[in-house]
Amino acid sequence: MKPFLVTPGSKVDLSKWDADDTSALAGVTKEGSVAMLETVRGRLKNLQAMLLAQRKRKILVLFQAMDAGGKDGTVRNVFSGLDPHGLSVVSFKAPTPAELEHDFLWRVHAHVPGRGEITIFNRSHYEDVVAVRVRKLAPKEVWERRFDHIAAFERLLVDEGTVLLKFFLHIDQAEQKARLEGRLRDPTKRWKLLPSDLADRSRWDEFTRAYEDAISRTSTSHAPWFVIPANKKWFRNLAVAMILRDALADLDPEFPPIHPDLVNIQSV
Ligand code: ATP
Ligand code: MG
Repeated sequence: MKPFLVTPGSKVDLSKWDADDTSALAGVTKEGSVAMLETVRGRLKNLQAMLLAQRKRKILVLFQAMDAGGKDGTVRNVFSGLDPHGLSVVSFKAPTPAELEHDFLWRVHAHVPGRGEITIFNRSHYEDVVAVRVRKLAPKEVWERRFDHIAAFERLLVDEGTVLLKFFLHIDQAEQKARLEGRLRDPTKRWKLLPSDLADRSRWDEFTRAYEDAISRTSTSHAPWFVIPANKKWFRNLAVAMILRDALADLDPEFPPIHPDLVNIQSV
């Protein structure tokens, strides 16, 4: 899954990232991916149990994407089966008036994971340098300086024991069109569509540039970005699950030993 890691300091040009690319899992088919995902999720469940028991490290997984990029579906498919204890999903919507009274990281910091926990951010503080920029909700001098604040904030989280993984789910414009039209037709999905989604769609190039800029400027060795080809949902799910599994396995979590006072107790 290394090819999807954005090398710190490199300049991302999303037009060079093929949203259909599945070559990293050569030989795997959509049908075959089902069993593979099941296996990876089993390992994730096991790693999460140790992470939670140990209460040492914290995991923050963040998703950004264009509209209909598949954030919700990824969260459902990758994390289902994990223990809901110590697992939470936070969706960041347009800020409330109260949130707007505070600095942009205030609402974000309130939700970061504690020891042993896995927290998923569905959208994040990156909205404050992407959506805010594209929709001109703040002047350039305001969003521009947020990059430094984001760097310091992420450094803080990592210094305090957080593993931070940032995923950009990369779909192309044709795929977005198909998915938005699918939502229009499907009574179970229609409610998701807002007029603003269509307005955002017409700003595809501006969003792309804002994402390229944000990802290029904030992919670091301690808080890396992954650009995941996401036109194919099976590939996207498996790629994210495998990267997460590898990151958790690297922590090498273990179940804590028995309490010292209980070592010699054989029966209760
Ligand atoms: P779905 O894929 O189901 O539509 P969503 O993440 O798009 O989910 P919505 O409620 O449709 O959820 O949209 C949330 C909206 O809030 C997005 O348009 C996003 O850009 C916007 N938003 C989130 N955070 C901020 C922010 N800090 N400033 C401005 N807009 C924001
Ligand atoms: Mg939406």
